[in-house]
Order: sequence, then C-alpha cells, then structure tokens
Amino acid sequence: MGKSLLHEKVLVLNKYYQAVQITTVQKAICHLVKGTAKVITPDWTTHTFDDWIKISMFYENGAKIIKSPSISILIPEAIYLPFYESLPKNEVIFSRQNLFLRDRFTCQYCGKILKNPKDRTIDHVIPKSRGGKTVWTNVVLCCKKCNLKKGNQTPEEAGLRLLKPPKPPKWQALILEEFPKNKKETWKVFLDFAGIID
Ligand SMILES: [Zn+2]
Repeated sequence: MGKSLLHEKVLVLNKYYQAVQITTVQKAICHLVKGTAKVITPDWTTHTFDDWIKISMFYENGAKIIKSPSISILIPEAIYLPFYESLPKNEVIFSRQNLFLRDRFTCQYCGKILKNPKDRTIDHVIPKSRGGKTVWTNVVLCCKKCNLKKGNQTPEEAGLRLLKPPKPPKWQALILEEFPKNKKETWKVFLDFAGIID
C-alpha cells in the first residue's frame, strides 16, 4: 500500500504561491526532509517536516498514511517551495490536440461538443487569405457546419459569434486535463488563486 501512495500526485507551488508543476509524494517527501519545501494546506498554512509528522499522528489509522519503522507521515497533497523562483511555463506547444483541449472539444461558434474527430475543423477567425495568422489568438475549433457558413469571412460578416475570444492556454489547465483522475479537491484553492480554474 505504501508504495502506491508514494506515486500519488502532489501540486508544487513556487515562492510566489503559483502552481508550477505536479510531482510525486516520493519527491515531495525528499524536499520536505531536506528542508527545501513545506507542506501547504488549503487554509494557506505551511508546515515544516517536523510539524507535519506531528500533524500526521492525528491521522494514524487513516488510509493516506505512509508508515516506516521510524515514522508515520500523512501524504502531502501540495507543497510550497519558498526558494523556488521559477514561473509557470505559459507557452503551450501549438498543436491541433492542444487547441482541442483549450476549446474543450467545443465548436467556438455554435457550442456543439465535437466528440467525433471527423467533425472537428480549425477555423482562422481572420481568414488566412486576408492576412490572419496561425496563432493561438486567431484559431478556434469549429464544427464543419459553422466552418462552411463562415467560409472566407470574418465572424461578423458571416453572422457568427465567438463563444469567447481565443487566448493562449494556460499550461496548468492542460496538465490537469492530462491527469483528471489525480486532480485533488485540495488543489482547488491554489489553482483558483492562480486564476487557472473558474
Ligand atoms: Zn458550430
């Protein structure tokens, strides 16, 4: 049991309390032991390794405890790195798949969810033929029907309206899409703070 808990996901916050990556319990505990990280709980309290061991005693029989002959430790769900200055990487690779993820597989004009990959097309908001670039802010996922209606026009000309203006995606949002099963309830407060989820 202890082994699988070591591979559970832990959210990592930098010194500015921004969510920057996801790590494993095993690596998080290494940081805690070295003193380079503290556990952070949803009330924004940070706990040193020693404090956390004391807190863990209250959960002695809980399922989320890792036991070794010398210590019992409640697995942390988020850690804070007070010396880590790296900022979240906000450049997501521009690809069809990431565009679909950003737009949540939804036609950005009519709102239809496009489950079948064959129904998905990529629309240039300002058409390519009129100087529109292939960049995050000018492309959206679009169903075939809307794409046909739009043709070589701007949305206004075609009588279509974007659900929302296209923006570069935040990489954290994509990370969370990749690990939906591992998303923890306790992360919500930290991700809200960073404006990642609404
Ligand atoms: Zn559509």
